[in-house]
Amino acid sequence: MKLVQTHIPGFPRIGAARELKFALERFWRGETSEAALQETASNLRARHWETQRQHGLDFVTVGDFALYDHVTNHIQLFGCEPARFGFNGSESPLARYFAMARGDGAHEGCGCAQNGAALEMTKWFDTNYHYLVPEFSESTSFELYSKRLLDEVSEARAAGHPVKAVLLGPLTFLWLGKERDAAPGFSRLDLLDRLLPHYSRLLMQLRAAGADWVQLDEPILGLDLPNAWRNAFEPAYWLLNQAGAQLIVATYFSTLEENVSLACRLPVAGLHVDAVRAASELASVADWLPAHKVLSIGVIDGRNIWRTDLDATLATLLPVLAKRSGPVWLSTSCSLLHVPYSLAAEPGLDDELRSWLACAEEKLAELALLKAALSADERVSGNVARGFAEARAALASRRASSRVHNAGVAARMAELASDASASRRGSPFAQRQHLQRERLQLPAFPTTTIGSFPQTSEIRLARAAFKRGELSAQDYRQAMRTEIAHAVRTQEELGLDVLVHGEAERNDMVEYFGEQLDGFAFTANGWVQSYGSRCVKPPIIYGDVQRPRAMTVGWTEYAQSLTAKPMKGMLTGPVTILQWSFVRDDQARGETAQQIAAAISDEVRDLENAGIAIIQIDEPALREGLPLRRSRWDAYLDWATKAFRISAAVAADATQIHTHMCYAEFNDILPAIAALDADVITIESSRSAMELLGGFASFRYPNEIGPGVYDIHSPRVPGSEEMVELLRKAAKVVPPAQLWVNPDCGLKTRAWPETAAALQNMVAAAQKLRTEVELS
Ligand code: GLN
Ligand code: ZN
Repeated sequence: MKLVQTHIPGFPRIGAARELKFALERFWRGETSEAALQETASNLRARHWETQRQHGLDFVTVGDFALYDHVTNHIQLFGCEPARFGFNGSESPLARYFAMARGDGAHEGCGCAQNGAALEMTKWFDTNYHYLVPEFSESTSFELYSKRLLDEVSEARAAGHPVKAVLLGPLTFLWLGKERDAAPGFSRLDLLDRLLPHYSRLLMQLRAAGADWVQLDEPILGLDLPNAWRNAFEPAYWLLNQAGAQLIVATYFSTLEENVSLACRLPVAGLHVDAVRAASELASVADWLPAHKVLSIGVIDGRNIWRTDLDATLATLLPVLAKRSGPVWLSTSCSLLHVPYSLAAEPGLDDELRSWLACAEEKLAELALLKAALSADERVSGNVARGFAEARAALASRRASSRVHNAGVAARMAELASDASASRRGSPFAQRQHLQRERLQLPAFPTTTIGSFPQTSEIRLARAAFKRGELSAQDYRQAMRTEIAHAVRTQEELGLDVLVHGEAERNDMVEYFGEQLDGFAFTANGWVQSYGSRCVKPPIIYGDVQRPRAMTVGWTEYAQSLTAKPMKGMLTGPVTILQWSFVRDDQARGETAQQIAAAISDEVRDLENAGIAIIQIDEPALREGLPLRRSRWDAYLDWATKAFRISAAVAADATQIHTHMCYAEFNDILPAIAALDADVITIESSRSAMELLGGFASFRYPNEIGPGVYDIHSPRVPGSEEMVELLRKAAKVVPPAQLWVNPDCGLKTRAWPETAAALQNMVAAAQKLRTEVELS
């Protein structure tokens, strides 16, 4: 049988014990030297390459490491740092690197992914990893600063490893950037000709340094690309191929569709495809790709943590291998950056659940098994058979497990499917609005907040002590009640109209609910890099979801008992819970979303029964769940909005349902947002100075809106007049009778003094508006 080789597109860089995170934070606090930071980094690389080789990979991947972010690495590599970071001054490269990433560092630790002076941060395709956005204009010039990367290649060579270097391809690099301070009509694609010679030089250097292969990542081949970008690929790669290095172009995360033949005919030595997300295209790629080229098949899911069905994978591979006369590589679908390091750090998981999972290290072991199974080596056959048998048994236990399949949930889903009213409120919005106004008796321009109040260190310490067993449940409850009472009192003093309990008891808006729902599991160390030193530990949804008991009612009821003003119940929506978890792969995501929706609807009902008149269901992740290909948006938005509606539909007409979203680009999904049919939506808009409201106005968003009137991502306290100005603008495009007054997101990352000061100004702004704007 044909000999296959194995590699991976990339490996997590933060370290099994988050060594990089801690080293970075020590360095930023000024506690350690640059040399110490670099030593940690170099040790991590060495360890990660060693791990890759121990699992039989034929090359280690070099260039996937970054102290903060790999896109930022490329900005320095190609010398296109914006001048404001001191590129022309005396700052050291590392100082400039962290300046691009963190600005003045003011926001480190607040979790808001924002920073005034730093480069803008945005999501890496449809993952939860954030990269820093390169800035381009017609005056951008490039220069090659390859020492760091070449040093890494030398490190790997010195350790005796065969090397495959990895770079962002030039088109993806430009695509990920944005124009800034550019002349009208300028497109960053115009820079390609200027950039390519530097790539060529780099490829020659990499080859000379001993890299056997260079992987050029062009995941944008999986997007709906404008023609100008598509057409740029062939000439660009024709040029790069002249450098004499062996190039493999890597695509991932999406189907290639109209770009299959383009990807296959690029003048390079190999192509990597994502055989998980683009499984349906594998056969045609195998047909189209010229026989002499390497076909790298990403058969193991790099985006999720489920153990691979090795038998099924072999069955997929065999016909492809039979067809290809040229070399075949096996790989993970994409870089392993998006999964936790290893299950070895999870002694708390029970054996059954653990047997269903595979993190980065376990995925390397799976690759080794597949490779061995495809080789004729008799020596390994015993081990291979054992490995396959284990995988088979794990899969069978997962398929049959009563922890996964719950007949009650299945029956409820069938019921939901047959009952159209299950996703519809009782009456249309106009009628509900009337009933709600009668019930709530709110003033014009009602004021509220988004849910959380400052998560003070006292709160976090109390929770930590409780989790360690040092604080009794009783005492913890009392501590949280004290916080809630404080939040309620403060809001009353400030004169807010709709109050919240403040979410003191929540560590995280998804984890808090996941911990109380059936079908969820949590790891102790399953960290995944979100950006820079920040990691998240996504819950694992392994089974049918249901809510054994009320999750928030006690806290909300208590808060309501302290005030005569309406207390807003606060829930996380089904799409956001789904989006920020590792989701089971044995049923459609939409089905899992619907199960979560049913659980949330149970909570809505219980809150309502407890007398709560306003309930907010947060969906900050609705937009980021959009598929990469537009042709799939509708299908997604269909089930996503339906899930939200199921969670809200149980509410009586007189119960006011709010939702909250925090991102700037709404306009392309406005119809879907309207389809949620929330009575009130609060959104981020202060930073874009109400610009986005234009979209809501021209679309004639039918329900009530609270455009954030101040930016909670900074400790700055905006003046009342500033907020009045924003509200006047808003009142011009949205009927004033539909307008709410609120900050643009939750306040958990803020401190109390600035929070109270800003809210005081906000309440004053609403009062001012009430005196000057006529309500129609
Ligand atoms: N209710 C949540 C809070 O206030 C909403 C957070 C969010 O939008 N990400 O913290
Ligand atoms: Zn928000």
